[in-house]
Amino acid sequence: MIPAIGGANRGRFVARTVRVRAPGKVNVSLNVGPLRPDGYHSVASVYLAVSLYEEVAATSTEGTGITVSIAPSSTLDLDGVDIPLDERNLAYKAAAIMRDVSEKATGVHLEITKRVPVAGGMGGGSADAAATLLACDALWNSGLSREELAHLAAELGADVPFSLLGGTAVGLGVGDELSPALAKAQMDWVLVCADYGLSTPEVFHTLDRLRTTEGLDIPEPLEVDAKILQALRDGNPDALSKVLINDLQRASIELAPQLRDTIGIGESSGALAGIVSGSGPTVALLAHNPRAAEGLAEDLRHLGHNALAVHGPVPGARIISDTLL
Ligand code: ATP
Repeated sequence: MIPAIGGANRGRFVARTVRVRAPGKVNVSLNVGPLRPDGYHSVASVYLAVSLYEEVAATSTEGTGITVSIAPSSTLDLDGVDIPLDERNLAYKAAAIMRDVSEKATGVHLEITKRVPVAGGMGGGSADAAATLLACDALWNSGLSREELAHLAAELGADVPFSLLGGTAVGLGVGDELSPALAKAQMDWVLVCADYGLSTPEVFHTLDRLRTTEGLDIPEPLEVDAKILQALRDGNPDALSKVLINDLQRASIELAPQLRDTIGIGESSGALAGIVSGSGPTVALLAHNPRAAEGLAEDLRHLGHNALAVHGPVPGARIISDTLL
């Protein structure tokens, strides 16, 4: 329920809505280091922003409160999905951080249109946070630079800075130390979305457990494979299909063994290669071109999968409208 907003006919408060969209991501490569003493893992990853977007409409309200709702037009089936609407929501946290640094902050209502699978390994909550940072910056005329916003984004989560930046980028540290990478052409993908989620911390714990059992000494990942960046620069899906890598994939499959079948069905239906996206369970299948991706998505839908053709790279968080009410 949206709290009452002030209109032009209620004193001097004029409500305004800033609408921002921000993309979900696929990790084209993801190398994960050993568990660090601080409880985090270092990663070396190539992020690709894809054409599946979250949207946040931030509307100023009287007072200082922050409220969150999910738009009925969300394309996801959110039945039984747990999205907190209080201070645990990443969009709420982003608005609270912006309120702290904005002199002219008002109250705000955030309406989120969800399209990126929840707990799907595509950074949907992170996209909501990135969109909210940008929306509140505009709503409250905070005037923060992209660098300042990226700094706040990193406080909210490792994947939030990338959703702000978009495009293609190498991520080091915990994924938040980003360097934009050149990608000549769009790559076409089919996302196979699961009707269940995987907890990112649980996937990391599972990887640690598997590695401990094997007694392997895992090095800190310091760089990404140059062949991946080369394939992206050349716009060469065949070359890219041979070097896709995700260290978390085996842990996701340990927790959800059916993911192995999903990748297998995708590859036998014509995908160049398939990979679990981030911590999963969304599977990203690489296709030759847009037509191949559309055809593959349709074939998989006929087989009962929730499949969607997308492309990337696409830009990061962008304002799409700014309206006085
Ligand atoms: P990542 O790939 O960044 O680890 P994810 O895409 O796998 O994340 P999210 O959809 O971002 O996962 O959400 C993970 C959990 O975070 C959800 O299960 C939910 O309880 C909580 N959450 C908090 N804020 C949000 C939000 N705005 N949208 C969705 N989930 C949220």
